[in-house]
Amino acid sequence: MNFGGFGEDTPDERIRAVVLHEFGHALGLTHEHMSPAAGIHWNEEQVYADLSGPPNHWSREIIQKNIFAVREDTNYTTFDPSSIMLYRIKKSWNFDGLEVGWNNDLSPTDRAFIRQQYP
Ligand SMILES: [Zn+2]
Repeated sequence: MNFGGFGEDTPDERIRAVVLHEFGHALGLTHEHMSPAAGIHWNEEQVYADLSGPPNHWSREIIQKNIFAVREDTNYTTFDPSSIMLYRIKKSWNFDGLEVGWNNDLSPTDRAFIRQQYP
């Protein structure tokens, strides 16, 4: 779990969202954008350009691992753009017209999927 990056001015809603996301990982969930169902056509060079700068300063290897890698070895739903496990996605990062802001809560699909995995 990664709880770095919080400051005294971080809104409670954002802290709650990160806690839900990180506990999703603790329950075995992977990132929604890495699902085989996502099928996102990434503008990789734009993603590399944006995430290698502030505030992330990620290496190409980390970006590959956190954004582009597709997890074939997992259970998954149809792509859920409201999932707490989805990163914010800028429109310039893909060729599909997909734009997603910060998801701050479990989506109905998140709840149903976790219920299904942990009956
Ligand atoms: Zn994550």
